[in-house]
Amino acid sequence: MSIVSPQLLSQRIQQMEESATIKMAQMARDLAAKGHDVISLSLGEPDFDTPEHIKEAAKKALDEGFTKYTPVPGLVELRKAIQTKFKRDNDLDFEVNQIVVSNGAKQSIANICMSLLDEGDEVIILAPFWVSYSAIVELAGGKPVLVSAGIEDDYKVRPEQVANAITDRTKIVLFSSPCNPTGSVYTADELKGLADVVAQHEGVHIISDEIYEYINFTGKHVSIGAFENVKDRTITVNGFSKGFAMTGWRLGYLGAPASIAKACAKIQGQFTSGATAFGQKAAAHALLSDMSPSYKMREAFLQRRDMVIDLLSAIPGMKVNQPQGAFYIFPDISAYFGKTTPQGTIIQSSDDFCEYLLNQAYVATVTGSAFGADKCFRISYAASEEELRESAKRIAAAVADLT
Ligand code: PMP
Ligand code: GLU
Repeated sequence: MSIVSPQLLSQRIQQMEESATIKMAQMARDLAAKGHDVISLSLGEPDFDTPEHIKEAAKKALDEGFTKYTPVPGLVELRKAIQTKFKRDNDLDFEVNQIVVSNGAKQSIANICMSLLDEGDEVIILAPFWVSYSAIVELAGGKPVLVSAGIEDDYKVRPEQVANAITDRTKIVLFSSPCNPTGSVYTADELKGLADVVAQHEGVHIISDEIYEYINFTGKHVSIGAFENVKDRTITVNGFSKGFAMTGWRLGYLGAPASIAKACAKIQGQFTSGATAFGQKAAAHALLSDMSPSYKMREAFLQRRDMVIDLLSAIPGMKVNQPQGAFYIFPDISAYFGKTTPQGTIIQSSDDFCEYLLNQAYVATVTGSAFGADKCFRISYAASEEELRESAKRIAAAVADLT
């Protein structure tokens, strides 16, 4: 076995941040494997199984021989289903050749960044933001420019903040709504404000990550790409992981101007080719058939959200927002900074706080610093009611032990 020195690895990989969500989930698994009673609220993954009718569609597709390579941007059948879905749910008009299916929305975002960014191009990322955005942008040679909002603004960035951050090098404005990690949802008016700013700057694109579309508690999901003044410059990203509980299927997609979609397919053709054939057949079925399992999951998440807000608000010093979507809550925990743990460590950051929760209470969460918000930490409440109650109890006890 040859031993490769870490210094031999590329600068690119040495400089890349490891995904904090994935890292924390693995730390929780490792502790559990050592026999500790760990509750993992770290990974953003529905705890529900994929609805039965979608699994049946995949089995049928396998039996029918959908076991071969597909066209790189996806089966025409799936892209047509996505076209219908974009029109039906989002008021977005895309031709089939503007749609590219990938191995997860993560790959869709990577395809776009690799297609649009040259060295030093700037990407305005609305913060708090999902951990992989900055890593993907940097890998593609771009420069992340964070524009942030705190809990007092419900974690939503104002249009004038974006206007102030735009420079000659700005290529993309990137955000998710419903947002990971905050659960915040931009209203139609707020999206219009952002669209109006971007519309004034030719050459600036929007990546609108709408993967939590079906876990939106506001009643109506709005897509920024539906505004006339940015419709030709918006790339709408979505996927099956969250709304259909299909994280392990690895299926995401985008709708984009034709030239960008073509570029995304070109890069995907060199990296991974088309997504899994029988999965794509099942995904087409998912989009065009009974959506009630997704709505049921949304209702369950909403009930848990309310429960988690109640449980966390009862902990002295914990400041919580009221998330309007996704399955995350992102409390401000800066009240604990400067306090000392029973082991004598001073909590100075969200990293310290999450490490303390993991080692003291065996509750795995994710540090806010990974999302560009060091005063906060993220809890994924896609877990059972029992686990959520028990973890809140443990967090309260750990916090009470700080002096
Ligand atoms: N965007 C956001 C905001 C997410 O939280 C996730 C979660 N993994 C993704 C994209 C990527 O999802 P996937 O690759 O599983 O489709
Ligand atoms: N998006 C999820 C999360 O934020 C899954 C893990 C990941 O891909 O980051 O936890």
